[in-house]
Amino acid sequence: MADSKHPFDVLVAGGGNAGLCAAISARRAGAQVLVLESAIKDFRGGNSRHTRDIRYMHGGATNYVTGAYPEKEFWEDLRQVTGGETNERLARLTIQASEDLGDWMAASGVRWQKPLRGTLHLARTNLFMLGGGKAMMNAYYDTAARLGVQITYETEVHELKIRDGELRSAVGSCNGASQEFTAKAIVIASGGFEANIPWLKEYWGDAADNFIIRGTKHNQGTMLKELLEHGAKPVGDPRGCHAVALDARAPKFDGGIVTRLDSVPFGIVVNKEVKRFYDEGEDFWPKRYAIWGGLIARQPDQIAYSIVDAKALPHFMPSVFPPIEAGSIAGLASTLGLDPKTLVAVVDEFNRAVRPGTFDPGSLDSCRAEGLDPPKSHWARPIDTPPYYGYPLRPGITFTYLGVTVDEQARVIMQDERPAKNIFAAGEVMAGNILGKGYLAGFGLTIGSVFGRIAGREAARRATA
Ligand SMILES: Cc1cc2nc3c(=O)[nH]c(=O)nc-3n(C[C@H](O)[C@H](O)[C@H](O)COP(=O)(O)OP(=O)(O)OC[C@H]3O[C@@H](n4cnc5c(N)ncnc54)[C@H](O)[C@@H]3O)c2cc1C
Repeated sequence: MADSKHPFDVLVAGGGNAGLCAAISARRAGAQVLVLESAIKDFRGGNSRHTRDIRYMHGGATNYVTGAYPEKEFWEDLRQVTGGETNERLARLTIQASEDLGDWMAASGVRWQKPLRGTLHLARTNLFMLGGGKAMMNAYYDTAARLGVQITYETEVHELKIRDGELRSAVGSCNGASQEFTAKAIVIASGGFEANIPWLKEYWGDAADNFIIRGTKHNQGTMLKELLEHGAKPVGDPRGCHAVALDARAPKFDGGIVTRLDSVPFGIVVNKEVKRFYDEGEDFWPKRYAIWGGLIARQPDQIAYSIVDAKALPHFMPSVFPPIEAGSIAGLASTLGLDPKTLVAVVDEFNRAVRPGTFDPGSLDSCRAEGLDPPKSHWARPIDTPPYYGYPLRPGITFTYLGVTVDEQARVIMQDERPAKNIFAAGEVMAGNILGKGYLAGFGLTIGSVFGRIAGREAARRATA
């Protein structure tokens, strides 16, 4: 543990992307910085270590992106996925400030890889980190250490001593011992509350027992709760979360990216009663994958099954767990524990509803299944080529949207609408200001990086004034 008698200029609670962006920025602005991180060193980096790519505004193709992604298009994409449920000021600020992220991240040790092609549809809009989020976080920790940022692991901040909207100190626990850290400002970058199942149950009931948490078990929302109890103004739907279709065989926590299943647009999905419940081909997967967790969460026992045939298999990312395979639909149903007769009937009905079209996984193609409820708008082809494959699906919670309100300086806004004097927030803990609902792939890192840098700079300004 760091020396708690030594007062720091800036404390950062949470050592993920937002926390490290804040710590590096605060240190570069001349502040003495201490990062307090719950996890052990090997598991540092929170959910950020599972990431692969970041969305940013840019004017043209480079070695790492295939073309321009202008502000207008970025904003339109965001407006569309959120249905307008976004704070436009903060959203536009995020988009505009994302423009130099590629350079800033590279200057902080991150390396890029060549654009990825295929069904992800992100080669133009998103930069991919060489080595993924783990390499990115290692680069940030190295940079922070070189700059003189102090890090203390295995330290969960569980109490904020706040008076009149001003932080006096933060109390952390390490191996059962409490320690108080004083500082002139704090950046809260401790993620959402997605790993706190009892808290999720307040909004989802017992269904939350069947949720799988894709990231760190340390995002318990302790800081979010503290801030809300001290009068911070909440933002975002408490039930709102980024949740994907995950292989039901994934571990309860920290399975990361590989347990996600991208098979949905290329087949059908049924619940345990063998009913389809949503248009599997509504839009490109990067614009829809994040709603599928929520859709499955609303099904009986929070389980669903993705059914595809042999010709679909090459079109999505290989799964980490092999699919369940059978030579017939009835055989597949039996192995999955579904009623064989019903699944055969559902697949037959679907196959009959498929209209002739030209299959193209790279566009919103003309392959539709019509006259069904729900229809399938694109990529609908008869499921008729054995072997047949099935994946059991569970809601995979990526992060929650409930957070604290912030302003353009990343200051936490209190319920009387005044900003807290020296408390800043960045990352998942404030993402709900911008993501009222929906998601754009790669935008979680954008929000955390932009607001992490702002929070670090502003906290340093406040602390060193
Ligand atoms: C599997 C997966 C893949 C993803 N892929 C992408 C992607 O490719 N691109 C993208 O943009 N987004 C992606 N996301 C979302 C992205 O991870 C988040 O939006 C982003 O990383 C959030 O950063 P953060 O710093 O706010 O939180 P985190 O990175 O989760 O960091 C929070 C940190 O705070 C620590 N902490 C929590 N509570 C306390 C406490 N009380 N005291 C001290 N420390 C505490 C945690 O241990 C953790 O290290 C993905 C998420 C997951 C789970």
